[in-house]
Amino acid sequence: MKIGIIGAGLAGLTCAWYLKKNNIHDVTIFESSEWAGGKLHTTQENGFLLDRGFQVLLPAYPETKKVLDYKKLELQSFAKGSLIVKNNKKIPFYDPENGLASLVQTVVYGPGTFWDKLLLLKLKLILSSTSVDQIFDNKKRMSSMAYLKEFGFSEKMIQDFWVPFYQGVFLENTLETDSSMLLFTFKMFAEEGAAVPKEGMKAIPAQLVDFIGENNIRFKQKVQEYTHNSITTEDGKTETFDKVVVACNLNKDTFYHSVTNWYFETDKLPINTKHIILNANPGRTINNVVLLSNVAPNYAQNGKHLISVSANGIHPEPSACINDLISLFGEEVNQWKWVQTYVIKESLPKINFERSYSAAAQDGVFYCGDYLIQGSINGAMESGRRAAEEIIALQTPYK
Ligand SMILES: Cc1cc2nc3c(=O)[nH]c(=O)nc-3n(C[C@H](O)[C@H](O)[C@H](O)COP(=O)(O)OP(=O)(O)OC[C@H]3O[C@@H](n4cnc5c(N)ncnc54)[C@H](O)[C@@H]3O)c2cc1C
Repeated sequence: MKIGIIGAGLAGLTCAWYLKKNNIHDVTIFESSEWAGGKLHTTQENGFLLDRGFQVLLPAYPETKKVLDYKKLELQSFAKGSLIVKNNKKIPFYDPENGLASLVQTVVYGPGTFWDKLLLLKLKLILSSTSVDQIFDNKKRMSSMAYLKEFGFSEKMIQDFWVPFYQGVFLENTLETDSSMLLFTFKMFAEEGAAVPKEGMKAIPAQLVDFIGENNIRFKQKVQEYTHNSITTEDGKTETFDKVVVACNLNKDTFYHSVTNWYFETDKLPINTKHIILNANPGRTINNVVLLSNVAPNYAQNGKHLISVSANGIHPEPSACINDLISLFGEEVNQWKWVQTYVIKESLPKINFERSYSAAAQDGVFYCGDYLIQGSINGAMESGRRAAEEIIALQTPYK
């Protein structure tokens, strides 16, 4: 079978990976940009590894577990939990698994009331015995915010922890994202925390490309038109295929959340932590700060430290985050040197939660991409796998 795939993001690459695994080798991927990985990309600049928008892999993701070799990625783990900063106070929210001291600190000084902490424990226990499929198969639709309120968390706990944390996960400020994503990601964070590969996030697609073969990807080939058995590129060339997979979102109606990510370098860390630092100050612009090279030393060379700062929305000027940074860490922020800004207009898709779609559409074309399932590495890879499985099922029973 000869397959043409449009888009070498995680969905397209995962589709090609499963096809090859099942002995379908005649696969050509058309990619409009110069790299494979789409939204997962890292550039090397002046001794720094800069991910194009702060991203993490949650190693508990079921789809990445099936495909990626974590050992080869040399995952560098964040400390579980987070450090919340509000009104000059540091509020620990550490995972009890980190030891008794973490447990005591979180119970005594952590966010919310004692009742909130019991509720957190209850939620963790519920999720530890709930499968990912059960979470997503739940037909009850409600926003994450509505879910947290219904679960009984106090307003203080929601404002001091849930909102600052999930603003940085959902890349939207009101937690309108479907509660199944809240439960899924919270389960993933609780099980195996968060990590980045030693060589940056682009090591994830690079591993897929290693298996697929770079020769199967045609870079700088923007697809203009397609049918169920043909692909036409911008230069007017048309090629025929047995099946065509659209692994990018050509639907202009999808709404995407936008995010701004600044990188700074410094000789001295403002604080020594491997936790994600959450900004819970009222009236904030930035969501979180990550001392990236403290977690993954390879992200900075020459004794420098690399700091990632993220804010939802579009804020091209570095000055947009300086006041917030000073409120978190004091005047020493003025010594930091700006390295790079990424404004990502299309980050996570706002989607109507739908998991029961079929990759094969009525026009005979196969579709995949995070926008069809969930905006995440896991969602993109699940959609790519499902498209491949539907194609494989056409020729042999899927193994
Ligand atoms: C800033 C940011 C932070 C994120 N944080 C996280 C996180 O922490 N954890 C997590 O799990 N997920 C995170 N995500 C989500 C995750 O990165 C994406 O869901 C996933 O990478 C999307 O993969 P995809 O293949 O569906 O789409 P894309 O990556 O968009 O891939 C589509 C590909 O198709 C190509 N293409 C488009 N049009 C054409 C055309 N006409 N012809 C040829 N090629 C075309 C594009 O160039 C691209 O390479 C984040 C995303 C962003 C942007």
